[in-house]
Amino acid sequence: MLTKKYAIQQTEENWIDWFLANGEKSFRGKQVLEWFYIKQTFNPEHFTNLPKQIREKLQNDFDWGLPIIDTILPSSDESEKILLKLHDGLFAECVLMPSENRVTLCVSSQVGCRMACTFCQTGKMGLTRNLTTGEILTQVVIANKRLIERNILNRSVTNIVFMGMGEPLDNYDNVVGACKALIDPKLFGLSKHKVTVSTSGLLPQIEQLGKDLPVALAISLHTADNEQRSQMMPINKKYSLEQMKQVLLNYPVQTRHGITFEYVMIQGVNDSLQHAKKLVKFLHGLKAKVNLIPMNPHPGAANMVATDFEQMRIFQKYLADRSIPAPVRYSRGQDVSAACGQLAAKRKDEINLPPRTVALARRREYLAEKVKQ
Ligand code: SAH
Ligand code: SF4
Repeated sequence: MLTKKYAIQQTEENWIDWFLANGEKSFRGKQVLEWFYIKQTFNPEHFTNLPKQIREKLQNDFDWGLPIIDTILPSSDESEKILLKLHDGLFAECVLMPSENRVTLCVSSQVGCRMACTFCQTGKMGLTRNLTTGEILTQVVIANKRLIERNILNRSVTNIVFMGMGEPLDNYDNVVGACKALIDPKLFGLSKHKVTVSTSGLLPQIEQLGKDLPVALAISLHTADNEQRSQMMPINKKYSLEQMKQVLLNYPVQTRHGITFEYVMIQGVNDSLQHAKKLVKFLHGLKAKVNLIPMNPHPGAANMVATDFEQMRIFQKYLADRSIPAPVRYSRGQDVSAACGQLAAKRKDEINLPPRTVALARRREYLAEKVKQ
């Protein structure tokens, strides 16, 4: 039996191709996406601006199943982690963070990640698969529904950060497809300054992103010492800091703040004044802001802990005295493993298990499900 394609996985181009192949005009592609993302309707029977026969054909040709919410883990700080079960039994997660004047959603771009940064829990999982454009966008749809359920009225997600599981630029086409829908005034209509793609530094893709999209860019830097960065982040062996600097100097800076650099503060590792000096030197000539993020400990990196408050202040002051804004960003949702670098798609029953145990158990479940299908 031929398996049907999942409607939620189709891009605008896919829809256009399908409509043209079925004797319809290409604008129908956008109409379907409007039903999905503006009207939150995923049943073609209700697509009233489409001819009846075409609606029936849509119903027959595609599988209309959506990812389902598996678990919601509310944090004491109002944020919550939403774990989604995808059609193939895998899990993806996003973190919803409402605050006074904005609602930020941290989305995943992959199940796992193959970049293997030493301090990151997702990195311990390895990569299972890319998320499709539709799967990235449904995280936003589901988050908007949650805001209504939680009675956070008249609000929908205002800011998106690609800081969940995965390396967004390692899944370039799907992430760019999702960003285009997010800033499209006829779809999600978010401000281009409020969609941030965070990357560990895939240079050819950063160059391409500068040409393709006006969204904000964040670089996970974590040290300005080339040798040390190669130890912490294997991608640096391929693309050095010197090469990164050249690419960033040529990057079309889009937001007021220029480029955001994320810097996880790990005690005794990258938090000395020597490191601050190297950082200032690296940033010279760039319009930069640095987010200092205290390391979130997890069982997979038990020897790494956050820099203490005093040392963080010294580091921060060194940067501020040289006109580099460097706010300390405390991750939200730490009590439910929703903080940066703690996303490893854990269900409630798995929260205290080491990432390798969780990954192995998941793999077994996934294979068992595959055998059943
Ligand atoms: N792969 C992309 C985006 C996802 S990671 C990237 O690396 O930029 C999101 C952010 O969480 C990155 O800045 C990452 O370096 C940071 N992070 C990873 N592990 C962390 C940890 N244990 N504590 C604090 N931040 C962490
Ligand atoms: Fe992947 Fe980012 Fe984690 Fe590195 S920090 S392993 S790139 S998710």
